[in-house]
Parts: sequence; C-alpha cells; structure tokens
Amino acid sequence: MNSTEFRKHAHDFVDWMADYLETVEKLPVRSREEPGTLLAKLPEHAPEQGEAMEDIFRDFQELIMPGITHWQHPAFFGYFPANNSEASILAEMLTAALGVQGMVWETSPAATELEERVMDWLREMIGLPEDFSGVIQDSASTSTLVAILTAREKKSQYRVNREGFQERRFTVYFSEEAHSSVEKGAKIAGIGADNCRSIAVDDAFAMRPAALEAAILEDKKAGFIPLCVIGACGTTGSTALDPLAAIADIAREHELWFHVDAAYAGSAAILPELRWIQAGAEKADSYVFNPHKWLFTNFDCSAFFVRDREALTKTFAIHPEYLKTGHDAVVNNYRDWGIQLGRRFRALKLWFVLRSFGREGLQTRLRHHLGLARQFRDELAGWPEIEIMAPAPLALVCFRFVPEGASEEACNHFNKALEQKVNDSGRALITHTTLRGRYTLRAVFGQTHVDRSHIKQLLALLREVYQSLQKAYTINESDDEHK
Ligand SMILES: *Cc1c(COP(=O)(O)O)cnc(C)c1O
Repeated sequence: MNSTEFRKHAHDFVDWMADYLETVEKLPVRSREEPGTLLAKLPEHAPEQGEAMEDIFRDFQELIMPGITHWQHPAFFGYFPANNSEASILAEMLTAALGVQGMVWETSPAATELEERVMDWLREMIGLPEDFSGVIQDSASTSTLVAILTAREKKSQYRVNREGFQERRFTVYFSEEAHSSVEKGAKIAGIGADNCRSIAVDDAFAMRPAALEAAILEDKKAGFIPLCVIGACGTTGSTALDPLAAIADIAREHELWFHVDAAYAGSAAILPELRWIQAGAEKADSYVFNPHKWLFTNFDCSAFFVRDREALTKTFAIHPEYLKTGHDAVVNNYRDWGIQLGRRFRALKLWFVLRSFGREGLQTRLRHHLGLARQFRDELAGWPEIEIMAPAPLALVCFRFVPEGASEEACNHFNKALEQKVNDSGRALITHTTLRGRYTLRAVFGQTHVDRSHIKQLLALLREVYQSLQKAYTINESDDEHK
C-alpha cells in the first residue's frame, strides 16, 4: 500500500470509527451469531495474492461486525466494563504507527520514561505512598501472577528460580470470593491448587480476618510456609471490600507478602470520598488495578505497583549479552518487571487519557456512574419482587427477582431465564454471579457514555421481561398443581 492509499483509508476508517461510536447505541448489545457462523464464512486458507483494502474493509463490516458484542454500547451493563474513550483510541492509532517494542529503555527511551511518569501520576491519584513503583502489565491476572512469583522468590531468597521448589511447601490465601485469576496465578507459580486456602467471608462477602489468621497458624503448625495473601478491593461478584488494614497486620505479623487485587474498584480511589475503600492498601507489598476497566483507557492497560522493586526485578531479570546497554544502571528496563520481554507502548494511551480528561474530568465521570448506580438501586429496591443481594459500595448492583411463593430453585431458574431474555432483546446486556448459591443478576454502570436515559430503559426492560416471564411462570405453576 502506498502512502496516498494509506492516507485515504485511514481517513475513511476514522470516519467509520466516529460513526460507530455515535451510533453504537442502535445496535443490539450482544452479538446474535450462533457458534460457527463466522468460521463457515471464512476461507480455510490464507490468500495467495494480496487483496484490495476495499474488499477487506467490506468483509470487516459484513462478516466481522455481526459477531461483535458491543462493549462500548451505553447499555452494556455486564461483567465489568472495558471502556474506552476518544483520547485513548487516538493514542492507540499513534502507537500502532510507531510500532515500538519497549522491552528496554534503549529500544525507545520515551516509551520507558513516559511509563515511569504516568505510573507515578496514577499512584498519586489513587493515594498510594511514594515508595511504590509502578509498571504497566497486560492484565490483572498477569499482575497477580507477577506478585505471587515475586513473593515466592523473595521468601526463598531467590532460590526457587534456581533450584526449583525442593522441599518448600508454600501456601497462598484469598477469600472465597476472590477472582479466579488468583488461584490460576498460584497454580502457574507452582504453588498448587491444593495449597491455596479459600478463606471464609462475612455477610457482606468480605474476607474474615480471624479465619485468615487461623488458617495461617494451622498451616504453620503443619509445616507449610505461608507465602502470600491476596486481599480483594472490590470482588468481581459483588464488589465486596476485604478489610485490607486487618489483613495487612496479619500479613506483617506472619511475614506474608500482601497483594491487593483492586482490578475494577481501584479506579474509584481517585475520588477522595471513596479513598476509604482501600484503607490498608498503603501497607501492601503490591497492588493492581485496571485503567482498562473503569478509567477510559482501552484494553489492555493494567497498573501494577510494588513496594520492593528490587525483589521484583531480581525475580524477573535476564542478562543476555545482546540486550546489554550502557544505561542499565540508571534507567528502568521494563523487561525485568514482568513476564514478557517484548512490550507494547501502552503508556501513551494512558497519558492521552489522563491529560485529556484531567483528574477532575475523570472524577466527574466516575461520580456520574456512581450516581446512576445509586439511582438504579434505589428505584429497584422499591419493587416488591426485588431482593438486593449485596451492599453496593460502587457502581455495581447485585439483585434478583423473587416471584411470590417461588422456591429457591425456582427462583434461580427464573432469574436465569430473565437474564437470557433481557440479553436476547439486544436492548441491554447484564450478567450474573452466584452469591451463597443464589443466582444473582449484576448490572454495572461504567460505560463512557452511559446516561440516565439508559437506566430508565433498563428498568423498563426489566419490568417488561419480568411481567412476561411471570405470566408464563404462573401458568406453569398452576399446570403443575393439576398434575
Ligand atoms: C476483572 C478482574 C480481574 C481480572 O482482570 P484481567 O485484567 O482481565 O486479568 C481480576 N480480579 C478482579 C477482582 C477483577 O474484577
């Protein structure tokens, strides 16, 4: 492709992107494709000859778009958001054009130094102390794995990296409500799922510190080496807030690494009035949150902070001759701060976002989301058939419908059917979790352009689907009585 063609297509694509963001609301939120639909339409072999960009782009629109679930749709209330913003998209275009490989300082000094500075900005914005150093990882899953590996090496005086585990029997602790990535990280780090301790939670789904301490003591007695505890600041199921300060004290007393998983909720710590949610995180050894969830920076961008950066780099450092440079003593070489060697230039989009919104702009948008969640929750709580399933400290509301006289089992079925029907409508997308065995619906308000009108529409949709299902349900029930 020559430069003239590139210029033309790039302009066309930017027009398409602007149109897409303007009109995404008119598309069904969730893709309606059946499994295998796209595969059946794609040639089995790569083309021999190059094809015209017009043809490729037409296929993008005709073949790919129907299989897209629209995460940037303002009525996307599922999972946690992975929101983006105009500033972030613009930066990603530049990043792609530069095509930089940021493995060490010398491979692009600006990529490294910008990352250092924006991570300092973020650290300050969420109120972590100055002795934390930040690095961008691809995901919270990776960040937590990196934390566990660093804990393992520090505890073993960097010997597992050399000798393997030998007789060391480490244990890792996290609550019953912790994200699946935590156990996965422990498995990858060689700790073993059997050596993961799932700690009981209280009525608000937060870790019970007494149960944590009891488990540590029992393991010590049995000859295990308690290694690491992961506290959740905002669980995925219900944004439960583990008591981080109490956990920090226990970790310190028993010499465990303390990692905080604030993947979604950490963004809220830029609000002074919500800083309390992570009280105690300042005593952690490491901490992660995802600007790619709720801070308008498109996936991937996970902010990982560590207090003992030497322990981190000693765990991951490599010294091949072909990567040695004259500056290694005075610069950060981020290849030594995690698993990958090659690294994307992710700091650029974060920089664009932080500058384009400003701290106040970000705060305003988050407060708006929190207000929408409150409004939704208050309205819903007034419906007699609704049960609110968990405290909602942030912008996630957990609820379920309880049709009159329904058993627990019937209730689970009913809510599952309701979720499906809401999502089949294409007018909104919600997801679910189970809390104490109960099928629980989740709606989270974090889309870049979500507004009051979308909350009203969601409430109307829920009411409509509830009524239609309830009719069917009542008929079924009376059928059963006749049997
Ligand atoms: C979303 C989430 C994760 C996983 O985040 P990734 O960046 O997708 O790996 C981990 N922990 C919690 C609490 C989460 O909500």
